[in-house]
Amino acid sequence: MDLTRDVNSDPRRVLPSVDRLSRQLRGQRPDLPRWAVTEGARRVVAEARARLAPSVTGAPPTSLPSPEGQDATDWLQRAAAEAEQLAMPHPRRVINATGVVLHTNLGRAPMAPGAAAAAAAAAVGYSNLEFDVATGRRGNRLGSLEHKLQLLSGSEAALACNNNAAAVFLALNTLAAGREVIVSRGELVEIGGSFRVPEIMRRAGVKLVEIGSTNRTHARDYEQAIGPDTALLLKVHRSNFELKGFVKEVELQELVEIGRTRGVPVMEDLGSATLIDLQDHGFPPESFAPARVRLGPDLVCFSGDKLMGGPQAGIALGRQELVAAMRSNPLARALRLDKMTLAALDWTLSRLLEGDAARDLPIIRQLLMPIDELEARTRSLAERLEALAAAGSPGVKFRLERDRVPVGGGSLPGFELETVVLSLRHSRSAGELAMRLRTATVPVLSRTRDEAVLLDLRTVQDDEVDSIVQAVSESLR
Ligand SMILES: *Cc1c(COP(=O)(O)O)cnc(C)c1O
Repeated sequence: MDLTRDVNSDPRRVLPSVDRLSRQLRGQRPDLPRWAVTEGARRVVAEARARLAPSVTGAPPTSLPSPEGQDATDWLQRAAAEAEQLAMPHPRRVINATGVVLHTNLGRAPMAPGAAAAAAAAAVGYSNLEFDVATGRRGNRLGSLEHKLQLLSGSEAALACNNNAAAVFLALNTLAAGREVIVSRGELVEIGGSFRVPEIMRRAGVKLVEIGSTNRTHARDYEQAIGPDTALLLKVHRSNFELKGFVKEVELQELVEIGRTRGVPVMEDLGSATLIDLQDHGFPPESFAPARVRLGPDLVCFSGDKLMGGPQAGIALGRQELVAAMRSNPLARALRLDKMTLAALDWTLSRLLEGDAARDLPIIRQLLMPIDELEARTRSLAERLEALAAAGSPGVKFRLERDRVPVGGGSLPGFELETVVLSLRHSRSAGELAMRLRTATVPVLSRTRDEAVLLDLRTVQDDEVDSIVQAVSESLR
């Protein structure tokens, strides 16, 4: 035992008390919520205590400010910063100036204000969600929505659930549990996070039968794999990558033929699709869900919040018998839409039926934004920023440039939109400037290329431009 060491030298003695720290901070910052102040103080002290604990490497503990006198401010500042972080709402608004319309990390498709208002109205009041006001009896929660989906797509039946992963899972579990599902090795994709086709299939209780090779799958591969236990032929859209070179896949039309001849249902997971035809604007044909339905598969499914431009949802279109079986699967309840999403989706489908999508859905407006309009908006931002720089931050250079940008969100791999960007060059590195924009009062997300920060107004709404000016001004300081 080290007798020379008296108790007073225990470095943990310099830690302030959580109670005292939070009391002081409450006095200083009445704007911060009490719970966040207490938790902020607790975290700061706990973290300091952990740093002071004798380390396994035997390295001396880091020294800390004392809780008294001059150093007290330091403790208060740290606790305040922690409390501010804690009190911040999540998610909070950020400005997407990347030009990537379906940005997975930024919440994919922004909802139309009308859809959001419908969701809010459903949320704050009672509604006839499952009530028939004419008969006074229990009503159908999804009937109206599904009817609209049928009208838009021409499918025999439709179903909407929590998201596309849920739609795929429900379909597999309903149509093929305990049996075999045939998929090409070129389509065993990972969409991101935990959605991997083989994994989803295992969890849905189906047996995966892989066919073909990574780059080539032929009709005969499907035909040879079909056996008495085959429940489904599954086609999965390669949403986030392309196969190029010596490749071969079996198109949906041909797969439908095979399924018909052999009496096996065919399903396509489209991932991302629209309910209005954008082919005239250069979009690939498989992005238009009704055209896929017309090719005759038994089921197709896709996301509500990718190219469709609605709220998060999964949409399945297909034959009456299969959709009815999916509806009566007990899992359907676990994967169902909540009333807010339902209201937002219903609003979106109504707009699509009225043919107003290009005007009413932000995603469609952004995708189809004429290059002249984009250029004029970008020029006007450039002028504002130039005036700002002239006033206080010389040495920053702005330039309008043409560029190309992917649609994002695991949609249309290889397809890019022509776009206009405002490039910012500064003595600070592009990485540093981009970081400063991200951490501005209202965070602005940009792209960087060749030591320039690129701002793309395609994904920025007019009422967000002020926030960009503000963020640039903050980051040039
Ligand atoms: C995006 C995607 C999914 C998952 O859809 P969510 O709506 O995110 O659940 C499934 N399959 C494919 C092919 C996709 O692109």
